[in-house]
Amino acid sequence: MPKFPNDFLWGAATSGHQVEGNNKNNDWWKWETSEKVKEASGNACDHWNLYKNDFKLAKSLNHNAHRFSLEWSRIEPEEGKFSSEAISRYKEVIQDLRSLGMEPIVTLNHFTLPLWFYERGGWLGERSGHAFANFAERAAKELGKNVRYWLTINEPIGNINSAYIEGKWPPGERSMRKAAKAFVAMLKAHCLAYAAIHRVYKEKRWPEPKVSLAHFTVLYTPCRANSLLDSLSANIRHNYVNRSFIDSLISGWCIVPGMPLARLPVKKSLDFLGLNYYSRDYIHFSGFMPSAIFGRICSLEHHKDSGKRNFLNWEIYPKGIYDILMEFKRYNLPILITENGICAKDDNERIDFIKDHLKEVALAINEGAKVFGYLHWSLLDNFEWTHGFGPRFGLIEVDYKTQQRTVRPSARVYANIIKENAV
Ligand code: BGC
Repeated sequence: MPKFPNDFLWGAATSGHQVEGNNKNNDWWKWETSEKVKEASGNACDHWNLYKNDFKLAKSLNHNAHRFSLEWSRIEPEEGKFSSEAISRYKEVIQDLRSLGMEPIVTLNHFTLPLWFYERGGWLGERSGHAFANFAERAAKELGKNVRYWLTINEPIGNINSAYIEGKWPPGERSMRKAAKAFVAMLKAHCLAYAAIHRVYKEKRWPEPKVSLAHFTVLYTPCRANSLLDSLSANIRHNYVNRSFIDSLISGWCIVPGMPLARLPVKKSLDFLGLNYYSRDYIHFSGFMPSAIFGRICSLEHHKDSGKRNFLNWEIYPKGIYDILMEFKRYNLPILITENGICAKDDNERIDFIKDHLKEVALAINEGAKVFGYLHWSLLDNFEWTHGFGPRFGLIEVDYKTQQRTVRPSARVYANIIKENAV
């Protein structure tokens, strides 16, 4: 039975807007109430009020870590004005995790933006990185005493694709030019926030924090196995989605001479790598026009022999997590799997998913990937963005009418893996 390293972090992940409920002061709420999606987040899982109960359940399932996100629009409802009420609540949340012996892993931005920030251009607005770093600094000062692991931004590339290329998420843009601008803005925001958090810890003389981001990863395979053009497109996509953001940070983008960031007091901007992995896509060449550079996804039409699919039709491909870990091993940084999960009607599929993926993780560790934790997505069923409440990703089922929680059998299988520290 493959074993995991001692002190391995085991747990699950959530994000503020997807579970808390009533985050009315952000861009997503605005998007939902303008009928851009079929279902609005509303009360979601009412986790804002029920978090103690939810953490108690996680603890009973042997979790020793938990990833969640701060809702920026609650903490800073107007630019420069911070809500002491929201800050106290997040202090309690962190305290509660600590008292249960669970390591808090705190995300600063999981897609949603405060309305004031959104309305002046969001990530594309002037000095967006500085505004974000200001929030990061305040969060670190207020909450840092009990937090060691920070993730600045969740899935910059995933967010850029949905919000600036496909136009499905706020602000609903379809522009490669704006996508490129958002890419640079998020790089800058990450670097400034990374530096701000480190600076606070230094000033306070707290032990050094570990700061990263949660990076979107997808495995890409050519549609036609022996097509050079499909391989070319798959490769271009791979380089953009999986590598470009991290490569920019690793190559010292934060300290490029002449950029305003040159004064950052740090020589690096990632203390570890946070990786989210769900699936693989098959890619088909679609011409030499600049707009066709990433090819197109052909998974459904072509690949009858591609594996099983989840409720949202994403392929379930456990070996992909091994391939991704082997790919990211090159950076020689410790790795935290910040998300991995399945939406399924039949919980047996989740049982297989967890076991099969963890076996691949164990194999990658055995072959040198420095993985120090695994956070399943998600602790609870929750609001799945444009898809609403249909997809069920939770280890714990949520009845949205009564807010009743029911622990699924897969959660117990996972609890047992944690207890054995082996799969
Ligand atoms: C996101 C989550 C989302 C999950 C499942 C990840 O890309 O970070 O917010 O719920 O995927 O789609």
